[in-house]
Amino acid sequence: VKIYFLAAFILAFIKLPAQDSRKEKYEQKIKLLLDKEDALQSFYAVDEQGISIFANAEDNLSNKPEMRLSWSEVPQFKALMREAPAQEALRIMIEKKTEPFKPAIIAAYVKPSITGITPEPLKPLKGLRVALDPGHMAGDMSMARIEKKFLDMKPDSTGKLNEQVQIMEGMLTLQTALLLKSRLEAAGAEVMLTRSKPGESAFGKTFDEWIKTDMKRSLDSLDKAGKLTPSEKQTQLKGTKRDVFRKIFFELELQKRAEKINAFKPDLTVIIHYNVDESNTDWKQPSEVNYNMAFVAGSFMKGELSTPLARLEFLRLIVTDDIESSVKFSSIAAQQFEEQLQVRLAGPNDAKYLTQACMSTSAKGVYARNLTLTRLVHGTLVYGETLCQDNIKECIALQRKDGMWDGITTSMRVKQVADTYYNAIKLYSEKQH
Ligand SMILES: [Zn+2]
Repeated sequence: VKIYFLAAFILAFIKLPAQDSRKEKYEQKIKLLLDKEDALQSFYAVDEQGISIFANAEDNLSNKPEMRLSWSEVPQFKALMREAPAQEALRIMIEKKTEPFKPAIIAAYVKPSITGITPEPLKPLKGLRVALDPGHMAGDMSMARIEKKFLDMKPDSTGKLNEQVQIMEGMLTLQTALLLKSRLEAAGAEVMLTRSKPGESAFGKTFDEWIKTDMKRSLDSLDKAGKLTPSEKQTQLKGTKRDVFRKIFFELELQKRAEKINAFKPDLTVIIHYNVDESNTDWKQPSEVNYNMAFVAGSFMKGELSTPLARLEFLRLIVTDDIESSVKFSSIAAQQFEEQLQVRLAGPNDAKYLTQACMSTSAKGVYARNLTLTRLVHGTLVYGETLCQDNIKECIALQRKDGMWDGITTSMRVKQVADTYYNAIKLYSEKQH
C-alpha cells in the first residue's frame, strides 16, 4: 500500500506541469463533446493564455480573432453570459476583441450570484429557480397537423390496436409541465413556464394570432438584418401556413423560449418532449420500440458555427461547466426514467440521429446534440425525450384520462413522467448541497 501511495505521489508530481494545462483540457473537451466531425478547427484556437474564436478560416490563418478570452477573464465572461441578453453579450465580446473587459462592463455584469437554495423541512426546494419548457404547442388537431407533432392511428384489422389513438405531443408536454410545476411550487421552488396554455406559443399567443399581429413585423426585421433566405422570402409572399410555420415561425419561437429561460436565470431548466420511433413512417401503426433518452448541448457539426451567436455559444460551452453540470443532471433524470417508467435507455444504435448527429457522454442514455435550445439555453439543463408515443402500450396509456392531479386531468403515464422529473430535480439539488 505504501509503495502504491508513493508511486501515486510521484506520478502526480510528474503529471502536473505538462498535462493539466487548460489548453489540453479544453482541446480534449472540444474533441469529446463539441466538434462532432472534427470539422470546426478553423473556428477556434486554444493556447496556454486563452482561447480565440474566428469568423472563418482566413481570419484564423492571419490570427484575427472575432472574440478572444484569456483564462483570467473566464469568470467575468461567465458572469456576462449569465446576466446579459445574448445579443448584448455578443456585441460586448465582438467589441472587446483581444482587449480586457472594460471596467464599465465588469461593473454592470459581474455581480455576486444571489441564487441558491435554502431548504426548509416542508419546503425542501425553497429558493430553487426552475424553468420548464413544454415542447411544441398544439392544443388541437389542426395546429398539430401544422407542426406535425401528433399521432393519428386507426384500429387495425390485425387486432394489434383495438381503439383509435389521437395524441398531440404539445398537450402531453404541457400537462407534464403543469403537473411538475405544482409539485415544485409545493416544495418551495420558483417556476417559470415558457408557455402555459394549450395552443399558446412562447409569444403568449396562438400561431394564428401571431400571423395576424406579429408576422409582418418579424419578417421585416429579419429582412432588414439580412437573415431571410430566398426560400423564406418566397414563403413570405405565397407560402402555406405549414410553410410559414416550418421556415419562419418555428425557429423564431424556439429563440423566444431560450430568451425567456435565460432572462429568468434559472438554476435548472427542464425541456420536456415525448419521443417516437423514427423508423415508424408517419406513425400510422403502433410500434414495438420503446426507450428514453436525454440531450445536453454539444456535438456541433459542419456549418453550425456560421453565425456569430453560434460561435459565442460555442465559446460559452467550452469554458463554462454548463455541459458538465447538464450531463450530471440529465444522468440522474435518465436513471429516473429507466427505473420509474420501467423503460430502458436508448443506446447509440437505437436511432440514426444518435450516431449521425450526437456524441455519447459519460452518462448512459445522455447524448450531446446541437439543438436550438440546448445551444441557446444557458446553465444546467435536461432535454428529456421520454417514451415512444407510438409504442403499442404507451399510445394507449398516454391517451387515457385516468386521473386528476392538482386540477389537471390527464393520463397516469404523464403523471409518472412528471414525477420522474421532480425526483431528478430533487436528487440533483440535494447533491449540490
Ligand atoms: Zn418533441
